[in-house]
Amino acid sequence: MDLKSLPVVDHELFEWMQTIRRTIHRQPELSFQEFHTSTLIQEKLDELGIDYQTGWAGTGVIATLGTERVSGSHVGLRADMDGLPIQDNKEAPYASKITGVSHACGHDGHVAMLLGAAALLKRYKLAGRVSLIFQPAEEHGNGAEKIISQGALAGGIKAIFAGHLDVHYPTGVITVDEGIICSAADPFSLHIVGRGGHAARPQEACDPIVAGAYLVTALQTLVSRETDPNKSAVVTIGCFQAGHANNAIAEEALIEGTIRTNDQEVRNRIVAGLQRISDGVALQFGVRIGVRFHDSLPVVVNSLETAKVARRAAQLVVGQDMVLSQGRPSLGGEDFAFYQQVVEGCLVRFGANSPPGCGSAHSGKFDFDENVLAVGAAWLAAVAVQWLKGKKQ
Ligand SMILES: [Zn+2]
Ligand SMILES: [Zn+2]
Repeated sequence: MDLKSLPVVDHELFEWMQTIRRTIHRQPELSFQEFHTSTLIQEKLDELGIDYQTGWAGTGVIATLGTERVSGSHVGLRADMDGLPIQDNKEAPYASKITGVSHACGHDGHVAMLLGAAALLKRYKLAGRVSLIFQPAEEHGNGAEKIISQGALAGGIKAIFAGHLDVHYPTGVITVDEGIICSAADPFSLHIVGRGGHAARPQEACDPIVAGAYLVTALQTLVSRETDPNKSAVVTIGCFQAGHANNAIAEEALIEGTIRTNDQEVRNRIVAGLQRISDGVALQFGVRIGVRFHDSLPVVVNSLETAKVARRAAQLVVGQDMVLSQGRPSLGGEDFAFYQQVVEGCLVRFGANSPPGCGSAHSGKFDFDENVLAVGAAWLAAVAVQWLKGKKQ
């Protein structure tokens, strides 16, 4: 593909994507409940005259373009679809209309971009087949793992690409890296069962809040005292729920958190340490502590070959100077990792300025510069064309 045949997002296509993004933004849906989003995707694919299959992990949609000309000339592009259980606190006219739910990670933008890429790819005589994967439940429940188990990659996809918008970089930047770029995530729940009682007679009760407070503090030593300082790791407690009254000792407490690592040895040690410290605190305070891990994610590791194609596509779309490295792996997790356990793939980041007064991803004030929609759509189309071109030779 030379510069003359570069996929170009014109004003009309940009507005089409912007309307899609805003429509989804107004009506965000949680993981596995993306019903309206799924319907909108199907309507837009109908509008473009592109075939698709529905019902992937419930709300997922997989559309296909072109035909496999030589063996292995089949590439996948993926967008996630779900919002988050976070109240939208921004002023924008397209702010969420659903109380307590918002698109605080930009997945509304990813859907719009992939539909934009579909519109661009329609204009090409493709050297193979492109599957557009609209995947539910990235934030919660590992939708990628689910649709893969249903056969999403069984149709012969040989490589997969995706991008995540990122307000840490200015609009127009695309970061491309080979190797590990996102960390393993091990979400956990700690259920502390004590014995309730009167606030004035603690000797008759067994206080799960005091045990829980010790436990949260003790868990901080997993990173500070048990992890090689040259390696990265995070243990975050995001939730601590207990009690109903100031004059009663609670019956139980629930602590939830997540471990992030990008080294298997560090990961094993912290996971084992969490169990050991929980057992120790349970013994110390005479409570029971149930430790449960769920929805674990592997690391996102971009293959050399797909990163090369991703970089070439990025250079064509935004120019060499705007293609950067993200540097060290992020401690964020991404269920794109599950695709890469089956086929090689590359996840990139699309820089998107944060509008004035807006906040970071996963916050109630999150928003992004919509010009990134044009960058994302062009890159997704370009990377598919570039990858198929490589297969033809
Ligand atoms: Zn997110
Ligand atoms: Zn996300």
